[in-house]
Amino acid sequence: MKDLVAQAERYRVRMQRKKEIVNAAIERANQEKGLLLIHTGNGKGKSSAAFGMIARALGHDMRVGVAQFIKGRSDTGEEAFLRYQPGVEWYVLGEGYTWDTQNLAQDIETAQRGWQLARTMLQNETINLVVFDELTYPICYGWLNLDQILIDLKNRPAMQHVIITGRNAPGTLCEIADTVTEFRNIKHAFYAGIKAQKGIDL
Ligand code: ATP
Ligand code: MG
Repeated sequence: MKDLVAQAERYRVRMQRKKEIVNAAIERANQEKGLLLIHTGNGKGKSSAAFGMIARALGHDMRVGVAQFIKGRSDTGEEAFLRYQPGVEWYVLGEGYTWDTQNLAQDIETAQRGWQLARTMLQNETINLVVFDELTYPICYGWLNLDQILIDLKNRPAMQHVIITGRNAPGTLCEIADTVTEFRNIKHAFYAGIKAQKGIDL
């Protein structure tokens, strides 16, 4: 019995100390700014995590802009649901996977035209959250000028949040970002022969 009382007291003291540390950290984080988030890595969840944040933002009556740079398919649940919600601007800028178009000049042109449109959202302070889905690919292929993208991101409205998704996010992009998350693949059902499932993969 004595042991239990002593154990409970040690637990209480430990939790109290933890609470003080957490409270001090919360108090230190007292600034507000528009954030740049990067979702990168080979694991699943990069785009869907961004779409989850869109739902959060809409729940706060925020305005959201989405630009999809590589359009894999046109039958995704996120597009069907989010595209037509009030407060959402949704642009599809890519014409499919590169192995579908098989036309380099056309892919470059599409990407560059896409960025010209996408960057107008970075100049619009009424848009509170911008998602550039799969932007890393046209950057990695050298179709878009990364320096120009970095400038456009830096010059955006001070309170505007931006999420960029895609594998192999360049180091310089991660450097100017506020929150960078690497999604790591441990296993994926696709490699067990399971096709993309509605509600999970599309
Ligand atoms: P999601 O859209 O599900 O959040 P993602 O954005 O992280 O995934 P992408 O590379 O954009 O990943 O690929 C989108 C599609 O490919 C989804 O159907 C997803 O389930 C699938 N996918 C994602 N990661 C993997 C992986 N490591 N292996 C196989 N398929 C994957
Ligand atoms: Mg994705």
